[in-house]
Amino acid sequence: MRLRNVKRAFERLDSYDAVIQDPEQYKGRWHEFFGNDNPIYIEIGMGRGGFLISHALNNPNINYIGFEKFTVVIVKALENIEKEENPLNNLCVVRFDAQQILELFEDDEVDRIYLNFSDPWPKDRHAKRRLTCRDFLHRYKQVLKAEGNIIFKTDNDSLFDYSIEEMKAVDMDFEKMTLDLHKSEFIEGNIMTSYEKKFHEMGKNINMVQAVFAE
Ligand code: SAH
Repeated sequence: MRLRNVKRAFERLDSYDAVIQDPEQYKGRWHEFFGNDNPIYIEIGMGRGGFLISHALNNPNINYIGFEKFTVVIVKALENIEKEENPLNNLCVVRFDAQQILELFEDDEVDRIYLNFSDPWPKDRHAKRRLTCRDFLHRYKQVLKAEGNIIFKTDNDSLFDYSIEEMKAVDMDFEKMTLDLHKSEFIEGNIMTSYEKKFHEMGKNINMVQAVFAE
């Protein structure tokens, strides 16, 4: 049953305009793809896409690229994008594993990376799969501009502690940090993701950090 769903999702993927089929071809040329020189913000693990859709609507002068590795999930995001009345020319999505991010971007091509409610991979032996482990952070550093930043939100307190330690280990500085975003000064302008809504409604504190690589 599950496999049949996945097959259907694959067949349907190319019927959406917002999904980029061979995103590697735009490495170093994303500005040509978008047709402007606006900043590029990406979200890794975009889920159903609500967060990026709101950002893209609110900020027409920023280009957004959503990464999602699961086809069934990305189809949901594409359906949500198509529900919008007007086409979102500043938003596209790629079915891509963040492990391979260096295949999609040249050095200094990205202005911001959002990591929202990334999978915690609680077992030590799976630590390398966490999107905030130092191997990932090294790759993010390569594609980010010098002044570019990473914004990470999670309900998971131990993943947050771990991520802060990893960020320190690769020499990152913290521009903003809170263990309770919704009670903090940083809440203004915050756009909730679908995981965030769920955890916030349950009364769970949301951790947030905005970090940059030191010179
Ligand atoms: N950001 C959304 C979804 C969080 S769940 C929200 O906050 O509501 C985490 C998502 O990240 C899942 O959809 C999962 O498929 C995706 N993901 C996990 N690892 C990934 C990777 N290596 N590359 C791309 N997407 C990934």
